[in-house]
Amino acid sequence: MTAHFSPACDLSSHSSFNSSSNPLSIYVGRFAPSPSGLLHFGSLVAALGSALQARRHHGAWRLRIEDVDIARIVPGAAAAILATLENFGFEWDGEVMWQSQRIDAYMAALETLKAGNHVFPCACTRRELEEMPGATLARDGSLRYPGTCRAGLPPGRKARAWRVRAEGQIDFVDAIQGQQTEDLARDAGDYVILRADGLFAYQLAVVVDDAAQGVTHVVRGADLLGSTARQIQLQRLLGLPEPAYAHLPVATNAAAEKLSKQTRARAIDTLSPARALVAALDFLGQTPLPELSQASPADVWAWALAHWRLDRVPRRMHRVAPVIET
Ligand SMILES: [Zn+2]
Repeated sequence: MTAHFSPACDLSSHSSFNSSSNPLSIYVGRFAPSPSGLLHFGSLVAALGSALQARRHHGAWRLRIEDVDIARIVPGAAAAILATLENFGFEWDGEVMWQSQRIDAYMAALETLKAGNHVFPCACTRRELEEMPGATLARDGSLRYPGTCRAGLPPGRKARAWRVRAEGQIDFVDAIQGQQTEDLARDAGDYVILRADGLFAYQLAVVVDDAAQGVTHVVRGADLLGSTARQIQLQRLLGLPEPAYAHLPVATNAAAEKLSKQTRARAIDTLSPARALVAALDFLGQTPLPELSQASPADVWAWALAHWRLDRVPRRMHRVAPVIET
């Protein structure tokens, strides 16, 4: 199954994929923050864009806490994220999914991939890979795996991690960023799905969880655009539905660094929800009325639900975040 995005207001469209004019089609969106810190403006943009696109299609909007990487979890962050979302007027459907409770599902997916010979055990340490002569870089700047263990573990070596055989070309149309194509072997290389520290990698967890939550449309930050081809490959290898994708511009600071705990992005929970929501709408190209900053969050949501259009989102990978007055 492949889903497609379509402009929410385009009632003249006769496309059967236009869920706003076709009551039989289903839209399920989601927001999936990792509890490695408090929500900052960049996470608010992703939450708002995904929620509005889902609501404009009369769809569901689900929440997932991506706490699979336990080393990066900040105690109390997950509860604070949920409280901030509620305070900002977000309403999610169903139970929150926690990746830390999904290990059995990831294990089952790994077994499926093993049975199809789509993965192989890898004994290489990071240092060995870094010191490999003639190493080349993947598209994301990481070292591309040179294939050392592809045909079997070297004698006397034990498996540390499991890697997916990156093969074939993936083409997809991103609803904001346009046509994308990736040669998996050349642009990504064989990638880890079970890490040497025993944790499942993000790429596997996100694919298994999107399928389990019935997600049909993924709206998220463009920092994940480069992961999408690998995720589509995993969906195909696992026989899972392929959601449609839309990647929003990522919010950066003035030095063009992605907002994160590392760049000391300010947490949004101390801001006026209405002001922050209006700033996020403006960032997403929606031209909200300035006086909405003085209104209630409910008024901002009402305006946003009536006016949201995905085709107004700037077709850019990143934008500088605004300064929001307190
Ligand atoms: Zn290896």
